[in-house]
Amino acid sequence: MTGGAFTLADVSVRFGDTAALRSVSLHVGVGELVALVGPSGAGKTTLLRLLNGSARAVTGMVTAGERDVAGLAPSDLRSLRASIGVVHQDLRLVPNLRVSQNVLSGGFGRQGFWSAVRSQWRPRRADLGRAHALLDRVGIAEKLFHRVDRLSGGQQQRVAIARALYQDPRVILADEPVASVDPARARDTVELLRDICRERGLTLLMSLHNLDLAREFFPRLVGLRDGRIVFDGAPNDLDRDRFDELYRLPAQEVSDDGT
Ligand code: ADP
Repeated sequence: MTGGAFTLADVSVRFGDTAALRSVSLHVGVGELVALVGPSGAGKTTLLRLLNGSARAVTGMVTAGERDVAGLAPSDLRSLRASIGVVHQDLRLVPNLRVSQNVLSGGFGRQGFWSAVRSQWRPRRADLGRAHALLDRVGIAEKLFHRVDRLSGGQQQRVAIARALYQDPRVILADEPVASVDPARARDTVELLRDICRERGLTLLMSLHNLDLAREFFPRLVGLRDGRIVFDGAPNDLDRDRFDELYRLPAQEVSDDGT
């Protein structure tokens, strides 16, 4: 459905009185690796949700490949979503099921209902082989038949990554995927996801709280603040002034003596 490229043309999104995105224009090419950075509430999640059609623009246009996302028929929207793997902050795994079942559920978007049920309870050897190979790539092949709730937080993140890859996506959207693990684990996970996307030519958009990780692992940073893009460039171009523009406190939070 999508070759992995997206364009936002003058896009605004509102939730009631709140403007989540304001006149945002952005192009992301096939295979690009992009970190979305900026303070909490800046609009990063909303931007990611726009790309797979789970948030709607009130004005402007979102294009996936050549197609206007808002104009897609339900079946085309399903195939767009099947081509986009999502890694959520809260992972959204089923904790009392095995790793294999969670990874295989990544195929649901491309399967019919009965085929999905069958793959859960009587998986084909070839499907299990694929799941195992993906778990091997993320470093936890030996956990294939373990229950998810017996794994560490870092291992669960890897299951979520393997599930997204099982979908055979062209794109990975990751929304603060490392917000809830310790810094060393976060660094490993961001690097792993970046490397996998690079070696497979997948487009990656990842929102990240941690600017240091974004700078270290991504060639392109898109900085959002108050629903607007205030920076779009290479990490080295994010100098002190631009950093302050991105993260400065709102005027009302700065006291009279400037502290
Ligand atoms: P970020 O991911 O950068 O923290 P979000 O995209 O989650 O930012 O949110 C941008 C703004 O939109 C925030 O002010 C947030 O409170 C608001 N917002 C996001 N989603 C909703 C929603 N479903 N309902 C109401 N307001 C929302």
